[in-house]
This record gives sequence, C-alpha cells and structure tokens, in this order.
Amino acid sequence: MEPIKHCPFCGKTSIKTMKKRSKQPGKYSVYARCKICYSRGPYALLEEGEYTPEQEKEVAITMWNTRA
Ligand SMILES: [Zn+2]
Repeated sequence: MEPIKHCPFCGKTSIKTMKKRSKQPGKYSVYARCKICYSRGPYALLEEGEYTPEQEKEVAITMWNTRA
C-alpha cells in the first residue's frame, strides 16, 4: 500500500479512512479524513460487496494522495 501523504492543511499524517452510505442503492463512499483538522479527501463511490476493507482503505488513500 502506498504511504499516505501529509495533510495539505495542517501538515500531519494522522489520517483515517472513513466509510459512508450513498444515496444510490448498492453503493457507498470511502474517503480519507485528517484527524487533526478534519479536512476530507475526495469521495470514491464503490459498489457494495466488491471491495475488501483493505482495498477500501487503499482507494481512499489513493484519492487523498492524488488530490490536486
Ligand atoms: Zn489536517
């Protein structure tokens, strides 16, 4: 798994990955959030049952890392 980048707002790496139900049936979102300043990475919309928890985490981290 690629290492998570520092938070662009507070410079910390206390990032956790979160999961959120989607309004779309059968889908949910994952994203990374900074534990210090609560800034959020982009949401990734995933299909229910297609990802393991490890993969969800990886997707959320990739989204966080690739944010412009
Ligand atoms: Zn932060």
